[in-house]
Amino acid sequence: MAILPIQTIPAPVLRQKAKHIITIDASILKLIADMTETLHASYGVGLAAPQVGISLKIVVIHIPEEEVIALINPQIVRKRGERKVIEGCLSIPGYRGEIKRSTAVTVKGLDPGGKEVRLKAEGLLSQALEHEIDHLSGILYVDHLENSDKLYPVSPEDEESQEDDL
Ligand SMILES: [Zn+2]
Repeated sequence: MAILPIQTIPAPVLRQKAKHIITIDASILKLIADMTETLHASYGVGLAAPQVGISLKIVVIHIPEEEVIALINPQIVRKRGERKVIEGCLSIPGYRGEIKRSTAVTVKGLDPGGKEVRLKAEGLLSQALEHEIDHLSGILYVDHLENSDKLYPVSPEDEESQEDDL
């Protein structure tokens, strides 16, 4: 496994639409393993393949105390409710923003074994799924800001809160 460099804005790959994966081969499985290691090394909650410079539909999410979830070709099939959240992104270091996310989402995709999975999520997992699946369409959380007042810098002393980055 390897820790991959994280792309930060304005890297063009972050604005591209990621490609649908047709065959889950060894290179895809290695990428998922590397993304998982990179996520852990950066103390993030989620990571999408475009954030490591690869425009493919893969997301990896690790909610503290839960198992790592890796999804291939994920898509949101249902959204419910609305709530305000404070969000950060590993690709936009040093900032946080207040945006609106759904209260709950249902997502379908493939697991690394190629099996179709359907996930119902609330709370941080729901937020992380929306954030990471946005990345696959070239959308960043800052695109959801109502206005620029809702974005604020975080000081390096607040590094611990980096744990919320997606
Ligand atoms: Zn992000």
